[in-house]
Amino acid sequence: MQAWVIGNWKQNPATLQAAKTLLADINTELKSADLAACRLMVVPSLVHVSSLQQQETAIAIGVQDISAHSAETGAFTGDCSAAQVRDAGATWVLVGHSERRQYYGEDEATLYQKIKNALSQQLGVIFCVGETKEQYDSEQTFSVLASQLTVIEQLLAESNEESLAERLIIAYEPVWAIGTGKVPTVEEVASTHTHIKAVIQGYAGAEAALGEPCVLYGGSVNAANAAQFAQADSVNGALVGGAALQADSFFAIAAAFSTAKSNS
Ligand code: PEP
Repeated sequence: MQAWVIGNWKQNPATLQAAKTLLADINTELKSADLAACRLMVVPSLVHVSSLQQQETAIAIGVQDISAHSAETGAFTGDCSAAQVRDAGATWVLVGHSERRQYYGEDEATLYQKIKNALSQQLGVIFCVGETKEQYDSEQTFSVLASQLTVIEQLLAESNEESLAERLIIAYEPVWAIGTGKVPTVEEVASTHTHIKAVIQGYAGAEAALGEPCVLYGGSVNAANAAQFAQADSVNGALVGGAALQADSFFAIAAAFSTAKSNS
């Protein structure tokens, strides 16, 4: 499968002009090199999406959140629906990022509703899972992931979606690795990805709806360490935060994945 390298810009950059420049710079890098085995996506601030999607680019655009309450319109002050972000030109949404779970108390029921709303409006979903440092230290990683992934089990059980293969990406992001410069070993990441794939493939309906799930690694990926993660067969790409805010480092990560996956 082709790799995905996705830049989560979070609440950056400060201005629309800076966001346009960043996307244009990534696009310039993309035109100068052949990334045959890697697709790119950026996930900017919602307020910048409609302006950025007007730029001529092969880079997919996602959003960082959508309303759990309604997929279309309604009295939900502050929310933006899946239909609205689709209309603004985004085609993917992040769901379950640890910052949303931590700062906004998003629980499994909320995440499930967001995924349902996204899929109902033909948005793809990047579903983030990962353990905290305490859970990692007490060797609870696999049980935490199994619990977080039940959202996907429920989706498969209740879904009449014909195919999720092109519309569902899992991002494994150990919470303790996000923005810290600390990373698990490649062996740990590879075995956790193998576990995630096995858990999902064990769900009823998974084979028909998904085939082999696409699982990205996220957490302090940068231009220097990307190649080592890219070499692991079970790592299908990266979700990148800090290093996605510079076109050269983001592109270097994508190039590392494209090279590794072309050779595998
Ligand atoms: C993230 O926030 O999804 C992330 C992976 O951030 P960073 O790359 O900065 O650790």
